[in-house]
Amino acid sequence: MKRNETRSVRAGSIFIGGAHRVAVQSMCATKTQNVDATVEQAEKIREAGGDLVRIAVDSPKDVVALAEIRRQTKANLVVDLQENYRLAATVAPHVDKFRYNPGHLYHHEKEKPVAEKVRFLADVARENGCAIRVGVNCGSVDPEMKEKHPDDDVAAMVASAIEHCALLDDLKFDQYVVSLKDSHPRKVIEGNTRFAAARRDVPLHLGVTEAGIPPEGIIKTRVAFEQLLPRGIGDTLRVSLTLPNPRKHEEITVGKLILEDIAAGRFRSVPVFDDHTLNVISCPSCSRVENEKFVELAEAVKEMTAYAKPHAITIAVMGCRVNGPGETDDADLGLWCGPTHVNLKKQKAALGAFTYDDILPKLRAELDALIAARS
Ligand code: SF4
Repeated sequence: MKRNETRSVRAGSIFIGGAHRVAVQSMCATKTQNVDATVEQAEKIREAGGDLVRIAVDSPKDVVALAEIRRQTKANLVVDLQENYRLAATVAPHVDKFRYNPGHLYHHEKEKPVAEKVRFLADVARENGCAIRVGVNCGSVDPEMKEKHPDDDVAAMVASAIEHCALLDDLKFDQYVVSLKDSHPRKVIEGNTRFAAARRDVPLHLGVTEAGIPPEGIIKTRVAFEQLLPRGIGDTLRVSLTLPNPRKHEEITVGKLILEDIAAGRFRSVPVFDDHTLNVISCPSCSRVENEKFVELAEAVKEMTAYAKPHAITIAVMGCRVNGPGETDDADLGLWCGPTHVNLKKQKAALGAFTYDDILPKLRAELDALIAARS
């Protein structure tokens, strides 16, 4: 496959970018503090061909577990810092790469300039020989960027990524990759294309976030990857699928299959994803999932809402409070899971929290009302 001439970034035993093959990665969905289960899942992902295994860390107790996981697995480990960027200092000695989200970084310790927070992260990465991923999500772009690009959320996402590249460049830190993700393949294609035109040197991590349950989740991902990889865009990838825990390693199998097909010229998806039918998106789950019923709920939502297929409605199902409230804002109807209740939203408006038994009828009533209002 033709590849953009990006620079090489080392993450443990592998390199991302340059002439290196496209690395495939996945993320553990086990509770990080359940060391045995997380080691088992990390090994399963590695044995399936996973080059990198991501783990969520949100607390000092998670860091203690991470140190033990590091001792027990040969996998190249990545941590997703999400809200708590200061944990980087204790996380970095145990991992090969960490990811921060510029949107979340903006909100944390608001009084501090973003450049100062980025300097802290770059210093930590440098001291520990870690790579960094600047992981921008269209749904959580920092508000200042949104204000600058009120009518073009892809432009806001790209501008945020470019701003953070400049901050890291100023610090002479070059061991970073960038991701620009959304649940819609079109925005992933546009965002990565625009970014690659501006920064051809920066390795890109591709992914359609919250792609959902197979086969739709795989189709959405293929639509984006088949448009980007043949044009040389993409150095590592993740296929984000909503799968039961014992099947998480299938993300690797699917990613490798898509790469093989593209390399062999076998294209299976249509270039434009159909915007005129029901779109159920769901997160791939991770250690932050607040109730184990999440995957079951996502599957039940997909099944129950099938009758609404002819309508251009987006329903988002998210597993936790970290990303749930924000990532459901753009959906027509959104559900995010708490430990005992599921929160239901109509775009940004909260409609209440319902038990796992009551949520489906409530969702059905809201969906019927939405269809009626649009008819
Ligand atoms: S929404 Fe929450 S549970 Fe789902 S993948 Fe994102 S952080 Fe994990």
